[in-house]
Amino acid sequence: MTDIREEPAAAGAATSVVREDDRVNLLDFDLEGLTAWCASHGEKAFRATQLARWLHRHVEGDFEQMTNLAKSFRAKLAELAKIEPPQPIAEKKSADGTRKWLFDVGNGNAVESVFIPEDDRGTLCISTQAGCAMGCLFCSTGKQGFNRNLRTSEIVGQLWWAERELRRDRGITDPNDRVISNVVLMGMGEPLQNLDNVIPALKLFLDDNGYGLSRRRVTVSTSGLVRQMDKLAEAAPVALAVSLHAADDALRDKLMPVNRKHPLADLMAACRRYLKVAPRDFITFEYVMLGGINDGLDEADKLIELVRRENVPCKFNLIPFNPFTQSDLRKPERDRVLAFCRRLNEAGIVTTVRKTRGDDIDAACGQLAGEVRDRTRRAERLAQQKAEAAVILQKGLGTR
Ligand code: SF4
Repeated sequence: MTDIREEPAAAGAATSVVREDDRVNLLDFDLEGLTAWCASHGEKAFRATQLARWLHRHVEGDFEQMTNLAKSFRAKLAELAKIEPPQPIAEKKSADGTRKWLFDVGNGNAVESVFIPEDDRGTLCISTQAGCAMGCLFCSTGKQGFNRNLRTSEIVGQLWWAERELRRDRGITDPNDRVISNVVLMGMGEPLQNLDNVIPALKLFLDDNGYGLSRRRVTVSTSGLVRQMDKLAEAAPVALAVSLHAADDALRDKLMPVNRKHPLADLMAACRRYLKVAPRDFITFEYVMLGGINDGLDEADKLIELVRRENVPCKFNLIPFNPFTQSDLRKPERDRVLAFCRRLNEAGIVTTVRKTRGDDIDAACGQLAGEVRDRTRRAERLAQQKAEAAVILQKGLGTR
């Protein structure tokens, strides 16, 4: 039975009818939004701060446990609000400590989060969209097509859920003793295509009354949406990782359709602008290495030339491609990856090869799409992308 009741009118608003399912999800609010919502229900700003600390520092999901809130406020919260992260429908644990959750986001869509423990940090990789519209040739998520943007609560909820689970497992009760020290928006989706929901989530990650992470410990990854990079710089200038994957427009056009709209010169100019406010004095370039496509030393030399010419201080993170069933692209040979890495380092550009983690649970980015239902024109896109990959493989670099 649906519970229908009268909600106290917000300032300037007519009295409205609230159904139980219409309770606000408090995980949708950054501190500013929470303060405004509390004010609209007659509560002072310090109550919003207290509430935010319970929600995000204690990762508490039960209003009754929020003991320093007035009883009347707790009753009001129970009536009008809820704390609702997305629910996990699968969880996998790797022998190396990597954990993966697959979260249900409704209508047959699911998104994934991956926790990667290291000696000095715990990193959570989270998703920002169900599917992705960018159509990068080498990406499993891109092959699903785009389903929808995640809400702020679905983005924040991944961190909320993971932190809670990990703390429970370790028996941690002190709210200052956090397991997740770093967050990277590198899961499913292009974060900068969902700025309306991503920005409040980032603000909450950075807020001392939220997750209290420094800007250096929060990284947004983009395929190269230049105008949105400027917006991010203005609203929440966290660390930035740019998916580069090619040293010239001819190849990047083929690997990443976004390049046809925002070619390398525009992207490099946007990187220079971003660096003026970035928490680090370099941009991280992600470079997926595709066997026989972009893994030769001539490509390394072109990259060196590109970043010197464009004057972008940077580091490179090389990601050896991990083949998946719907792709004809090839894994690069280990020797070529190491030689490529060496060439960049010798040129004075700090370059690392991404460590493979969670192999036994398919945790590497872009490898988990098989568990998500495709809601879009998958077969068509797949056929087109396979044809494009075949052309590149057949003709190699000589076609450019
Ligand atoms: S690599 Fe990133 S931007 Fe490109 S299709 Fe995959 S999820 Fe989207």
